[in-house]
Amino acid sequence: MAARLIDGRATAQQLRSRIAQEVERFRAATGRAPSLATVLVGDDPASAVYVRSKGKATLEAGMESASHQLPADIGEAELLALVEQLNRDPAVDGILVQLPLPAHIDSAKIISTIDPAKDVDGFHPVNAGKLATGDPSALVPCTPLGCLHLLKAELGALSGLDAVVIGRSNIVGKPMALLLLGESCTVTVAHSKTRELPDVVRRADILVAAVGRPEMIKGDWIKPGATVIDVGINRVDGKLVGDVAFGEASKVAGAITPVPGGVGPMTIAMLLRNTLVAACHREGLEEPEGL
Ligand code: NAP
Repeated sequence: MAARLIDGRATAQQLRSRIAQEVERFRAATGRAPSLATVLVGDDPASAVYVRSKGKATLEAGMESASHQLPADIGEAELLALVEQLNRDPAVDGILVQLPLPAHIDSAKIISTIDPAKDVDGFHPVNAGKLATGDPSALVPCTPLGCLHLLKAELGALSGLDAVVIGRSNIVGKPMALLLLGESCTVTVAHSKTRELPDVVRRADILVAAVGRPEMIKGDWIKPGATVIDVGINRVDGKLVGDVAFGEASKVAGAITPVPGGVGPMTIAMLLRNTLVAACHREGLEEPEGL
């Protein structure tokens, strides 16, 4: 039987409508809109597209958006000074520095200079530590948060399920594993040194693939009926494909995200969510429920 398609585009659109309503309530309560500042260094075309679409989505949700575009050869000190200026600016609720940064800039230093309260990407060590210790005030990285939202919408309670996350990056794999642990899944994190990966994957009721290798995960690795979340975005012959061999896997899985149209749109919805939540925290307002 063919797997159900998990429609990230539709779910993200619903979320964005909800967020726009909550932005109106925020505006009514505070007299201002939540605001996101994006910082783009250099002229990498993919990064420029991401930043533009994040800015556009922010405006569509009724929030303010300010973009700061800097030349590729900007010095680290100048970039740090901009981040510090945005930290101090009371009108800025969220700061997003688009990664990757040019090699001469220490990304970790930039990330750890962002005020954790404005760290809407959730990459600051304070937010990573809060997620690891189960502190609900954590700002959580947008992509894994979007994956969790899709999983809960698909499966309801996740408690007791076997989850396998392939990938251990700070941006996707690790926070994904912590979120699933927080939902009482039994979590395995696989990576490039994992032995017998197909056998590990066969145990998964929930599989999250965040590798960056086109169609690496084959259909016969998937447990029948499993829920498969494919985070991978790989360009092959001008087409986008995921990390999972979609055609084969969708014959075995119970439900699966397509690429594109699965996790990608959820990442932007969660950035809007995090910006709204950061603004609520800063104004001493309750977080909107269910986002
Ligand atoms: P990353 O930092 O390159 O991490 C990749 C992970 O995959 C690493 O942990 C690596 O293991 C593991 N890996 C590599 N080859 C492997 C193999 N043969 N078997 C098992 N594990 C292997 O990538 P990332 O930033 O997490 O992103 C992963 C993918 O998600 C990329 O395709 C990226 O474009 C996509 N992505 C999508 C979104 C979205 O919005 N949809 C957002 C972010 C990322 P080691 O740690 O051992 O090297």
